[in-house]
Amino acid sequence: LEKGANRPDAPDQKVKKLGVIGAGMMGAGIAYVSAQAGIEVVLIDQTQESADRGKAYSEGLLDKGIKRRKVTEQKKAQVLGRITATPDFAALAGCDLVVEAVFEDPKVKAETTARAEAHLPADAIFATNTSTLPITELAKASRSPEQFIGIHFFSPVDKMLLVEIIKGAQTGDRAVAKALDFVRQIRKTPIVVNDARYFYANRCILPYTNEGIRMVREGVAPALIENAAKLVGMPLGPLQLTDEVSIDLGAKIARATRAAMGDAYPDADVDEVVFWLEDEGRLGRKANAGFYAYD
Ligand code: NAD
Repeated sequence: LEKGANRPDAPDQKVKKLGVIGAGMMGAGIAYVSAQAGIEVVLIDQTQESADRGKAYSEGLLDKGIKRRKVTEQKKAQVLGRITATPDFAALAGCDLVVEAVFEDPKVKAETTARAEAHLPADAIFATNTSTLPITELAKASRSPEQFIGIHFFSPVDKMLLVEIIKGAQTGDRAVAKALDFVRQIRKTPIVVNDARYFYANRCILPYTNEGIRMVREGVAPALIENAAKLVGMPLGPLQLTDEVSIDLGAKIARATRAAMGDAYPDADVDEVVFWLEDEGRLGRKANAGFYAYD
C-alpha cells in the first residue's frame, strides 16, 4: 500500500449520525459545528419548542454568514437539513455517537444516559460535555462504562478550537479513538486528559474567574479588575468571562463540587456572590444581565 493510503479493510471511524441531548447554549453549538462538518444530527431537548430553539441557533449563525457573503442559501439549507430537532429520544436509534449537554446535575445526567442508551445501538459511544463532574462517577449510569467518555467543548462552540477528551477509570480505547476522530472530523483540536477535578482547562480558568469575583467581594472596583486583566493580555476580564459562561452554570458547578468535596471546598466566599446573582435572575450574557448589564 502507498504511504497514507487507507487499508481497504480499515474500519471507517467517521461519525455518521450524532445525537446531541440538551439544546441549550452548548448543545446548540455542538449541533451546529457537527452539521457544518457534514454529520447528520439529532438534537434533543425537553420540549419540541426548546429543541427548535436550539436548531434556530444554527439558523442565526448561517444567516450571519449569508449577510457576510460567506454562506450561500443552498449551503444554509444543506446544513439545517442535517439537523433534526425533537423531544423524542427514540430518534437516537442508529446514532454511533451521542454527546450529552443537559444541565450540570449528576441526577439529570444519569437519567439522560439511561434513557438515551435504551434507544442506542449496543456499540454506540456515549459522551458527556460536563464541565466538572467526574467522568468515572457519571459512567456508573451507563450500561457500558468502557463506551462512556467526556468530550468537553468550550463556549462559543463555533469559535473555540480546543476540545478536551476525558478518560474515566473504565473508558476503553475504542471510545477514545471515536472521540478523537469526531473532534478531528469537526476540525477542532483534541487533547486527551485524565479525570482530575476540573480536567485541564477549568483548572486554569476557574482560579482566574474565582479570584476576580473574590476581589469584587473585597470591594475592588470591577472596572479596575477587568482592565488590569486585559492589560496583562487576557482576552476577557474574569467577570466578563463569568457572564459569558453563565452565572447559573457557575452556581451548578459550585453546588456539585461542594457536595463532592465537603469541608475541603475552598470557594464558599465566591459562591455567595454567584448565588446572589443567580437569585436576582442575573444569569449572565444570555439573560442580558450578570456582573454587567447588556442592552
Ligand atoms: P443550558 O442550560 O444552556 O442548556 C441545557 C439544556 O438541556 C436546556 O435546553 C435544557 O432544557 C436541556 N435539558 C435539561 N434536562 C434535559 C433532559 N432531561 N432531557 C433533554 N434536555 C434536557 O446549559 P449549557 O450551558 O448548554 O450547559 C450544558 C452542559 O454543558 C453542562 O453540563 C455544562 O456544564 C456543560 N458546559 C457548559 C459550558 C458553558 O460555557 N456554558 C462549557 C462547557 C461545558
